[in-house]
Amino acid sequence: MTSRERIALAAESIQDFLPDEHTAALVTSGVNRRYLSGFPSSAGAVLITKRSAKLLLDFRYFEAAQKTIQPPPEVIRCTRLIDDLNRIFLEENIKSVIIEDEAVTVAQMKEFSDAMIPQVMSGGLSEKLCELRMVKSDDEIERITTAQRITERAYTEVLNHLRPGVTERSIAVELEHLIKLYGGERVAFDLICITGANTSLPHGVPGERVVGDGDFFTFDIGAVYEGYHSDMTRTVAVGHADDDMRMIYDTVLTAHKKAFDAIRPGVTASDIDKAARDHIAECGYGEYFGHSTGHGVGLEIHEAPTVSGKSPTVLKAGMVITDEPGIYLPGRFGVRIEDTVLVCPDGARSLADIPKELIII
Ligand code: ZN
Ligand code: ZN
Repeated sequence: MTSRERIALAAESIQDFLPDEHTAALVTSGVNRRYLSGFPSSAGAVLITKRSAKLLLDFRYFEAAQKTIQPPPEVIRCTRLIDDLNRIFLEENIKSVIIEDEAVTVAQMKEFSDAMIPQVMSGGLSEKLCELRMVKSDDEIERITTAQRITERAYTEVLNHLRPGVTERSIAVELEHLIKLYGGERVAFDLICITGANTSLPHGVPGERVVGDGDFFTFDIGAVYEGYHSDMTRTVAVGHADDDMRMIYDTVLTAHKKAFDAIRPGVTASDIDKAARDHIAECGYGEYFGHSTGHGVGLEIHEAPTVSGKSPTVLKAGMVITDEPGIYLPGRFGVRIEDTVLVCPDGARSLADIPKELIII
């Protein structure tokens, strides 16, 4: 499926979701505007009615959007968004507008309610978009995979610079530079490049800590390519690894593999979490694995579905989730191993192409 076909299908799904021809869906969040148009912009709206799908953009974006977007959505130039929306509401006889509950602020809601002609209401649009975005089409999977390849190229190169005496910060800066050099729009999140005792902090921030002989180094890194994110964590040892480090590493790797082996359509996300968590608990480290096993990845680095013990989402082919168990021993060290994984009709396929066995640099 091409991007254009996927966008047209998404618009049709939103049209099916609308209860009648007098109701419109108004999408104002940047991420969902991009999902429904393929076009990034810092302002604007997508308006979908039973009859039409329109992308309203101001002067700054209009020309570029017109050149790149093959309708739907039809690109409309707007001067003052609410006035232009009201004009369309009148033209199409729209009486109610469903907004994105999870994206509209209280201030926007007040503005919309005061200035829009139709009745403004909530009604499951955020959930509908979330449900659509959870299952990726080929064009989206390709972009996530490209983001991952960019990350891998940068990671492989930066390993050459990892040695005792370098700082976490210098590795993080180098990685960010290489990710952009190799085609990443930007890094997918603040890169986590941490070493030594800092590795017990799941979301540690790279600082002036210097890599020492016998330390772990954790890379939790990703790139953005055409709006889509990648997410990968590798933990490597510098110089050597003692028996405890090897044992914890093996425990996390087995948990990661158990979760991966459980991924297939029809199972609930909580079963994936359980597969990893039970293994870590059986090995006696349950209390040191305090986060979820994974999350969805796409236009956002963290999106649905959550892969936690409470997640009721039933996996479907096309979902992209992470598999990232970890064990964190306070004051000593931590290990996390993460791949971004595609749910396939017959199981799962990792989008990462970097070995997971412990490497000693
Ligand atoms: Zn990550
Ligand atoms: Zn992650």
